Amino acid sequence: MNNFLITPIEYLKGVGPQKAELMRKEIGVSTFGDLLNYYPFRYVDRSSFQRISDLRDVHGNVQIKGRIIGFKETGTGRAKRLTAKFQDTTGMIDLVWFKGASWVKKSLKINEDIQVYGRASQFNGRWNIAHPEMSAVNTKAEVGFQPVYSSTEKLNARGLNSKGLEKLVKTILDQLSDQIVEPFSSELMQEHRLISKNKAIHLIHAPTSELDAQQARFRLKFEELFFLQMELLVRKKITLQKSKGYVLSEVGNAFNEFYKNHIPFELTGAQKRVLKEIRRDMNTGHHMNRLLQGDVGSGKTLVALLSMLLALGNDYQAAIIAPTEILANQHYESISEMLKPMGLKVALLTGSVKKKARIPLHEDLINGEIKILIGTHALLEDPVKFKNLGLVVIDEQHRFGVAQRARMWKKNDLPPHVLIMTATPIPRTLAMTFYGDLDVSVIDELPPGRKPIKTMHKFDAGRLRVFGFMKEEIAKGRQIYIVYPLIKESEKLDFNNLLDGYEAITRTFPLPDYKVSIVHGQMKPEDKDFEMNRFVKGETQIMVATTVIEVGVNVPNASVMIIESAERFGLSQLHQLRGRVGRGAEKSYCILMTGDKISKDSEKRMQTMVSTNDGFEIAEVDLQLRGPGDLLGTQQSGLLDLKIANLSKDAQLVALARDVAKGVLKEDPTIELPQHGFIRSRLQEMLKSRPNWGRIA
Ligand code: ADP
Ligand code: MG
Repeated sequence: MNNFLITPIEYLKGVGPQKAELMRKEIGVSTFGDLLNYYPFRYVDRSSFQRISDLRDVHGNVQIKGRIIGFKETGTGRAKRLTAKFQDTTGMIDLVWFKGASWVKKSLKINEDIQVYGRASQFNGRWNIAHPEMSAVNTKAEVGFQPVYSSTEKLNARGLNSKGLEKLVKTILDQLSDQIVEPFSSELMQEHRLISKNKAIHLIHAPTSELDAQQARFRLKFEELFFLQMELLVRKKITLQKSKGYVLSEVGNAFNEFYKNHIPFELTGAQKRVLKEIRRDMNTGHHMNRLLQGDVGSGKTLVALLSMLLALGNDYQAAIIAPTEILANQHYESISEMLKPMGLKVALLTGSVKKKARIPLHEDLINGEIKILIGTHALLEDPVKFKNLGLVVIDEQHRFGVAQRARMWKKNDLPPHVLIMTATPIPRTLAMTFYGDLDVSVIDELPPGRKPIKTMHKFDAGRLRVFGFMKEEIAKGRQIYIVYPLIKESEKLDFNNLLDGYEAITRTFPLPDYKVSIVHGQMKPEDKDFEMNRFVKGETQIMVATTVIEVGVNVPNASVMIIESAERFGLSQLHQLRGRVGRGAEKSYCILMTGDKISKDSEKRMQTMVSTNDGFEIAEVDLQLRGPGDLLGTQQSGLLDLKIANLSKDAQLVALARDVAKGVLKEDPTIELPQHGFIRSRLQEMLKSRPNWGRIA
C-alpha cells in the first residue's frame, strides 16, 4: 500500500528523469512522499487586492488590479530590459523584466484589465515589480487561497516555480486514497484536537481558508515535535540503562560540617534546589551527566564545592576543571580558603606547575591524600591517576571540546559523575531538545543584594563624555574594562583597532596617574597572565582587552565594562562580557559603544541589553534573531532540521509534545501496546538513521 509514497518522483506525470534529478538535488525531493512533505511556506489570498497608493505600507508580495498603458525597451544585450507602466485607479507603478524581454513584450496585453502579482520594491523613488505574474482578472484558478512553495533558480528555469510545484502536488493528492498512515491513536488525537494526518496533508497543500491552514500546521508541527521528543526520551533511557555509576548514598561529614560551620552565605533557593537534584542523581547507581546552567554571578562555584563535598563524604575524590589558569587559580584560592578550617587537602594542577612539583602531587592523588584537585586542561593531558575519583566538575563548558571531555572517563573503573557548569543560558525549549540525554539544572535566581548593572548604548560621537565618566569612576577607586572584538575574518583590522584604542586610552589616561593593562590573544600565555594579574591585584585601573577575558574572571572592584564596536558582538557574548562587572558592592555600568549607523538587528541587540539583565530573556531574543542552528553551532544542527516546526517560535508546542511523549512512555515504557505500533516502527527507523549524537560529556 505504501509503495505509492515511495514511488520515485520521476514517474509522476509532468516530471521525468531530468526534472527528477533536479528536484532531488535542489530541494531533496526524490519520492511522491517527499513531495507531499514539501510544505508551502505560506499562502496568498488571491481574492484580495492592494491599491497602488497603499504600497508604502506593504511588505513582500502584492496583488494589484489594473491596466498596462504602455511600455518601453532600454539597453542592449545583457543589459536589455523591458519596463511597462501599470496603472490602477489610485496610481502608477513600473513592471520590469530583465530576462526574456522580447518574449514578454509579445504577450503584453495593453489597456486590458489584468491582475499582477509579485514583490513590490522601490528603486530611485519609484515603485516597481520585477518579473510579475500576470493574469486576466478573475480567472477561476486565481480565486481563493493559494500555497506558495519555495523554489530555486534552477527549478524555476525548468518551469518548477511555486505554481509548477503546486500542480505536481495536486497530481499526487488526487491519487491519494488511504496511503497516509495515521501514527496516532484516536484517543490521543481527540485529546489534543488533532485532525487526522491524511486531512492535514490535504489541507496544508490546498487549504480553503486560513483556519484550514492553521489546523494542518498545528497537526504536522505537533507530530514532528512529538517524534523528536520521543526519540530524545528513548535515547536518554537507553543511555541511562547502559551507564552504571558510583552510588553516593551518604550526605557525609564533609558536607555537613561545612554546611553547619563554614559556609560563607545562606544558599539561595535555586542553589538548594539544584543541589538536591545533584544529590539525587549521584545516588541512583546510574552515572550522572548533568548540565548546570546559571547566569554569571549566580553562585555556581558554591554548588560545585558542595557537590564535591558530597563525593568526599562518600570517600571519593573530586576534581574541578577550569578553562584558563587564571580561573583555576581563582577557584583554588577561594576553595582552599573556604576549606581551610576543615583540614581537607586541595591541590592545584595547571600548565605552570613544574615537573618536580608534580611528583608529590601525583603520589598524593593516587594514595588519596589529596581530596580535591583543581586544574586546567593540563589535568586532562597529565598522566594523573586518582585513588577513586567520584565527581568531575567542568566549569564553563563551552570552552571545551567533546574529545577532551571524553578523556576524563578513562581514569576510573567506573566513570566519575560529571557536572558541567555553564553561564551561557540556553532557552528552555532548546535545552530540552538539544541536550538529548543530558539532565539540565537551572539556577534562576541571583544571590540577594545584587545591584543590577546599568547598561547604556552610546554612539562613537559621544566618546568624550564616556572618557569623562571613566575618569570619575577611577577617581572613586574603581577599575574599568574596555573590550574590543577580535573576529577571525578581519583579525588584522581588529588588531589594529585594539592597538589604536590602547594608544588613545594611554593618551587620555596618562602615567603616572593612570595605569593601563592590555591583554590579547597574540600575547604569550605568561604575559597574558602577568597583565591580567596586575589588574586583578588593582595595580592597573584600566584593562584594554579582546574577548580573551570573557570567561569567569572575578575582579570585584571592576565596576565599568565598556564594549567597543558592540554591534559586532552576539547577544550571548555581550551578556557574558557584561557579567565581568557587578561582582562587588559598587554600582556597576556597562557601556555599549557602536558606530553611528547600525543595522536593525544590531539596534535590537543593544536595546535588549539595555532593557534587561536576565540571561534567559536575552537568550530568547537571541534565539529569535539568529535561529537555533546559529545559536548552537552546526555540530548537531541535523537534529534541528525540522520541516515545519520552529524551535524558537513554537515553544509551547515543544513543551506540549514533550509532555505527550512522556505520557506515552509512562503508559507504555517499552512501546509495545497495539495502539502504539506506528509510533514504535517510526522510532526504530529514527534511532537507526541517527545512531550517535547527543553525548556531550
Ligand atoms: P558564577 O555562577 O558566575 O560562577 P560565582 O560562583 O563566582 O558565580 O559566584 C558569584 C559571587 O556570588 C561570588 O562572589 C560568590 O561568593 C557569591 N555567592 C555565591 N552564592 C552566594 C549566596 N548564596 N549568597 C551570597 N553570595 C553568594
Ligand atoms: Mg564561575
